[in-house]
Formats: sequence, C-alpha cells, structure tokens
Amino acid sequence: MKTNQSDKPCQGVWVFGDYRNYFQNRVTLQLIAKGRQLAATLGTEVTVLLLGDHVHPYAMEYVAHGADVVMAVDHPGLKDYQVESYTRIVAELVEYFRPEIFLAGATAFGREFFPRLAKRLNTGLSADCVSLEIDPQSGLLIQTTPAFGGELLADVVTPEHRPQMATVHPGIFSELPHRHEATGRIIYPEAEVVPDERVELIRSRPEQAHKGQLEDASVVLVGGRGLGSHENFQMLFEAAALLGGDVAATRPVVKAGWADDSRLLGQTGKSVKPKLLISIGTSGALQYTTGIQGAENIVAVNRDPRAPIFKMADLGLVGDAKTVLSLLLEKLRKRL
Ligand SMILES: Cc1cc2nc3c(=O)[nH]c(=O)nc-3n(C[C@H](O)[C@H](O)[C@H](O)COP(=O)(O)OP(=O)(O)OC[C@H]3O[C@@H](n4cnc5c(N)ncnc54)[C@H](O)[C@@H]3O)c2cc1C
Repeated sequence: MKTNQSDKPCQGVWVFGDYRNYFQNRVTLQLIAKGRQLAATLGTEVTVLLLGDHVHPYAMEYVAHGADVVMAVDHPGLKDYQVESYTRIVAELVEYFRPEIFLAGATAFGREFFPRLAKRLNTGLSADCVSLEIDPQSGLLIQTTPAFGGELLADVVTPEHRPQMATVHPGIFSELPHRHEATGRIIYPEAEVVPDERVELIRSRPEQAHKGQLEDASVVLVGGRGLGSHENFQMLFEAAALLGGDVAATRPVVKAGWADDSRLLGQTGKSVKPKLLISIGTSGALQYTTGIQGAENIVAVNRDPRAPIFKMADLGLVGDAKTVLSLLLEKLRKRL
C-alpha cells in the first residue's frame, strides 16, 4: 500500500461514507448522487470510502444508492471515529489510489476531519459548498461556496493539487432511490490500524434527534429576528401544526434562545426543500437563503419592502410579522 504512486494519473470521484445516524443523516447518499453526475461528465466512477467495524451492510446500501465501488476498511479498531487514525488511513489510501475529487458532508464530522485530511494531503478544500459542477473547458471541479462572511458566492477551483476536496451542506442535493438490484464492486483494501495515542474515547451517546425531521417537512415556517420575541416565535408552532409542517429559525433567533440549534437553517444549519416555506421577519441574508433555495414556493413577510428576502419570494407580504402571523392562525383555526 505504501508504494509511491505519484506518477499515476488522478482518476475517480470519491465520497466519504459517513454512516453514523444513517437513517437521519442522508448527506452521503446525496453526495453519491451528485458524485455520479460529476463522474459521468468526467467519464469515471464514483467510489465511497468507508471505515468502521462490520460495515458490509452500509457498503450494500451505498451500492443500492448508486456507488460504482465501495472501498471498505473493516476492522474492530475502527469501530469509533478517531480523528488521527482515520486521517492517517484515509491519507494513505488517497495517496495510493489518487482520486481526482473527494467529497464529504459538511457535518460536524466532515468539518473536523476534512480540513485535517486536506492539510495532510497538501491540497485545497472548499467548505460548506452549495453547488458543484465540472467546468466544460478545463475539466476542473467548480466548488461554489459562500465567501467573505457570506456576502457573496465564490466559485473556487483547485487547479494543481489533488484531490479537489469539498464539503457539502446536507440537503443541497437529492439522493437516488434505493435499487436493490443495483450492482457495484466492494473492495477491502489493506490498512494498518493503530489506535490514536493521544485521544481515548471514554463514552459516546447519540444526540436526541428532534421529532418530525425538518428536512423532510412539506411545509416549513421560518421565524426571524423580526418576530420580536420568544412568545411571538412560539405562535409558529401552532400554525405549523395546523398546516402539518415544521418550524425553523434564523441564527439571531437561535442565539436569542427562542429556538434550539437543530432548527437553524442556512450555511451553518440545515437545508430544506418543502413545497411551501413561509419566512416571517427574516431579512434574507445569503447565509440564511442558502438553506431555503430548494423550497418550491416561498412566501415572505417583512415590514420593509426593500428587504432582500422579497427578491427570492414567490409571494411577498409587506406588514408586521406578529399581525400577519395572528391573522394566519385565525384563518387556520377556522378551518378546523
Ligand atoms: C459565517 C456566517 C455564517 C452564518 N450562518 C448563518 C446561518 O446558517 N443561518 C442564518 O440564519 N444566519 C447565518 N448567519 C447570519 C446571517 O448573516 C444573518 O445575520 C441572519 O440570517 C439574519 O437573521 P434574520 O433575518 O432573522 O435577522 P435580521 O437580518 O435582523 O432581519 C430581521 C428582518 O425582520 C424585519 N422586521 C423587523 N421587525 C419586523 C416586524 N415587526 N414585522 C416584520 N418584519 C420585521 C426587518 O426589516 C429585517 O429585514 C451567518 C453569518 C456569518 C457571518
């Protein structure tokens, strides 16, 4: 495995298989779907790299969701994620197999692991990408990511170093349907597994997932700072229940403690794709709208007619947030 392969041309699109919390966190599946598109353009294959203990069922899942190849390092010593050993093993595999592109979800895990890996591989990394395309002229991966504090979207390329690495926000791309008849190759490369010397995992417990997955809701009501108070924000829950939807928030609302972090939408939060999204008292900052660009219909409520949110809204209502929300509730209650 440690043979020098630096003369070998770089080829293939890799996706890091983060299977923890598999049924809730679908970003790896979303990246396989996007990876297939990129690989088709480049005339290559999409490979999922998987580390862990007894990971075969996940490997099968990734094949069923579109992976051409799954490379699984299966070892009891890899049962728990340890940043140092994972980085070393993955860096060795990348140096040996030389993928052209390597993607991971911009989850807490991807945000810790991928920058470290990029540094080890002496290559670039675009974090929190919201779009990925192949430039038809150069064949380079165009990594679109919020830049300069989110004031604009930058198209980043990695012209020389390989692999071209990016983390991608969950919810930006759609996964392919599960096809049990799909075929792919599962390979088990050799890797030396040595536990981290400096870190010892004592205990881990899964975070409580909040009920009614926001990412899957067909109606989402988002409250922004313009709602004015925790009490007004709470009104969203009744409206959401009456519409069969869920409630989300912008960052100032989370910071004020009106909503917990799991409801945050945007660059540092979740992305949603509902049929209807009602955005109340939000200005429409790019860091927030990144998380709602997949919504089919957007209704915005703001007292300022020049608020940027109106530029992306299908229907805009200029008015006071609490007044409009109260009227909506009144109408919805009457429908019962
Ligand atoms: C690196 C970085 C990452 C970030 N990531 C995120 C992220 O993931 N998600 C996120 O949301 N933000 C994020 N932000 C913050 C983001 O830039 C904005 O500050 C935030 O989205 C604004 O939230 P808001 O629209 O609720 O508040 P504001 O921008 O303060 O807007 C409030 C709006 O409410 C309107 N309003 C006020 N009173 C009323 C009323 N009575 N009735 C009706 N309308 C009213 C105002 O006209 C205004 O347009 C990030 C920032 C940075 C720098």
